[in-house]
Amino acid sequence: MRSGKDNIIVLTWLLGLWLLMSSAAAISEPRLSLTAEEQQWLNSVDEIRLCSDPDWMPYEGINEQGQHTGIMSDFHLLWSQMLDKPVVLQVTESWQQSLRFMQDKKCDVLSSAQELPSRRHYLRVTEPFIDYPFAVATQPDQPFIINLSPLMTEQFAMVRGYAAVDIIRQRYPEIQLTLVDSAQQGLKLVETGKLYGFIDTVPSINYQTLKHGISHITISGVLEDQYKMAVGIHKDLPQLLSIYNKAIDATQAVEQQRILNNWLSLSFEYQFNYTLMWQILAGVIALLGLFFYHYYTVNRHNRELQQVNRQLQHISHSDHLTGLPNRYYLHQAFETELSRYQRYQHGFSLLIIDIDHFKTVNDHFGHVVGDEIIRQMAGLFSEHIRDNDVVGRWGGEEFLILCPDTNLQGARTLAEHLRERIAQTHFGIDNMTVTASFGVTDYRDGEMIKDCIRRADQALYQAKHNGRNQTVVF
Ligand code: GH3
Ligand code: MG
Ligand code: MG
Repeated sequence: MRSGKDNIIVLTWLLGLWLLMSSAAAISEPRLSLTAEEQQWLNSVDEIRLCSDPDWMPYEGINEQGQHTGIMSDFHLLWSQMLDKPVVLQVTESWQQSLRFMQDKKCDVLSSAQELPSRRHYLRVTEPFIDYPFAVATQPDQPFIINLSPLMTEQFAMVRGYAAVDIIRQRYPEIQLTLVDSAQQGLKLVETGKLYGFIDTVPSINYQTLKHGISHITISGVLEDQYKMAVGIHKDLPQLLSIYNKAIDATQAVEQQRILNNWLSLSFEYQFNYTLMWQILAGVIALLGLFFYHYYTVNRHNRELQQVNRQLQHISHSDHLTGLPNRYYLHQAFETELSRYQRYQHGFSLLIIDIDHFKTVNDHFGHVVGDEIIRQMAGLFSEHIRDNDVVGRWGGEEFLILCPDTNLQGARTLAEHLRERIAQTHFGIDNMTVTASFGVTDYRDGEMIKDCIRRADQALYQAKHNGRNQTVVF
């Protein structure tokens, strides 16, 4: 099955093809078969002078550059090409002035005109080249209108001075019409509830409501009556009248449709606002920039904060002289081991180490040397324990080693190994051996951490008491 998107693509292609065909038709428009008389008249003039309505969009208007614009201008351009004769706009300020120009023979052609008795003394009209039904615009909540006859008690508005007024008056003699100066004024009167409806052609109503942003209005009905648009020619130019009739006759339906589509469907929606687009784009870029700048700064601050936090954590967990875990950290390590023991019955042991006669070292060699020995001792422990073991500075010249998954025997072996290492190490002090005493124990089921530590302390005390440089296991 074909999807909606495929349908749109096919439609777009067809539209493109159609536009191409229509423009090709315009280019290859056949020359008209004019009589000798018509051709002679055409040859006798340099240009055809055109008068128009300067303010009747989308049908026609005069733009800021003084050029003819709208549906009629496209038709007249097309006919100018068909006749191979320039059609030159005579700029006027009003429709009334254009009518006067026609009377005064300042114009040959009136771009769009109706056959009216009042104009017969100076104007003839061609066959109609296009017709539009009249429509009634009302407020949106009014009932649908097919015929105006039942609405003769209501008030309607129409734009003054157009043939349309005569057509509607002729058809509905009873109608109560308020004549206004512009479509905008008429639509406003309806929108604000002062009048019942505004009568004009559908394109005109659509164009004016869009242009003036009149929203509380809808087309409630399309009448049977039609506004037939023909070209007005000065009565003294019968050759030109028949030439225009031939041109209108030769205007292909496809060409007519192209002109109407050009003005009726594209008049507003496709006036792309590039300024607005650039402004929006600039706004989006600025916002994105701000967002990324904010993201970058927050990210950088976060990284700095993380680093400071890591430093803080390190400081709070470690001893600044040796860099080893401090007493606080050792307590946390104990808690971890205790919960491991409670969950998996993994036993652990601990060693408390105290440097022998350290006071004497300080007294003989000074505190700086004492500090250095404490640092070297820390290095020695770190080097010789296993990966899982945790060594920390317990305080002063005392260290504590926590040995997970280690029984008493294992702990004793480690203690002896370390004790011998210390005794063999030259700490840089002449004629003096540094030794340490070790108290060793293991965790016993059900006891508190502090009980276990106290027992290790007692073992250490015993080692001191026994003469130092030895390991006592409790
Ligand atoms: P023993 O343990 O063998 O009984 O004798 P000791 O001399 O080591 O006795 P005690 O534990 O009472 O004394 C410890 C000394 O260690 C006291 C103190 O001056 C010294 N000490 C503690 N912390 C430091 C430290 O950070 N640096 C230095 N240089 N000395 C310290
Ligand atoms: Mg001590
Ligand atoms: Mg000591």
